[in-house]
Amino acid sequence: MYKHILFATDLTEDTEYLLEKVRTMRSFTGAKLSLIHVVEPLPGYSYAYLGIEDIEGQLLTEARQSIEKLGGKLNVGSGDQYIEVGPTKTKILKTAEDIGVDLIICGSHGRHGLSLLLGSTANAILHGAKCDVLTVRLPEEQ
Ligand code: AMP
Repeated sequence: MYKHILFATDLTEDTEYLLEKVRTMRSFTGAKLSLIHVVEPLPGYSYAYLGIEDIEGQLLTEARQSIEKLGGKLNVGSGDQYIEVGPTKTKILKTAEDIGVDLIICGSHGRHGLSLLLGSTANAILHGAKCDVLTVRLPEEQ
């Protein structure tokens, strides 16, 4: 059975929906649980455009606060909470390998048309992961 699960969270309201599934998978397997959130770097011009000097720093601070809260809800200590900066898919897959997880849990939006062709994060994880992946279908936006 699974020994180490990585929950990839975008820290949006979707996370609440995924919480119960993550909890269930963890108690069912007795696995260790780690969390990851990736902050995508912004292009240089956005700093001047938004007039905020250190957007990335702010995003990181907010991400750290949110993942800490999530860690509290899921009983995951700070040593098992990962905040990475870079391309989302690459960072999730690299961390999954580095820490040796055997299951990644992520959400999946039912997508159609162009966004399906371009590929969602879930798709990218599913195709690139060397371990099993549980993609949880998220409720459709109304
Ligand atoms: P998306 O393809 O953006 O609809 O995201 C699908 C799922 O990928 C989310 O429910 C999360 O599980 C995961 N995900 C998306 N963005 C991130 C992120 N920045 N960091 C970690 N996981 C993410």
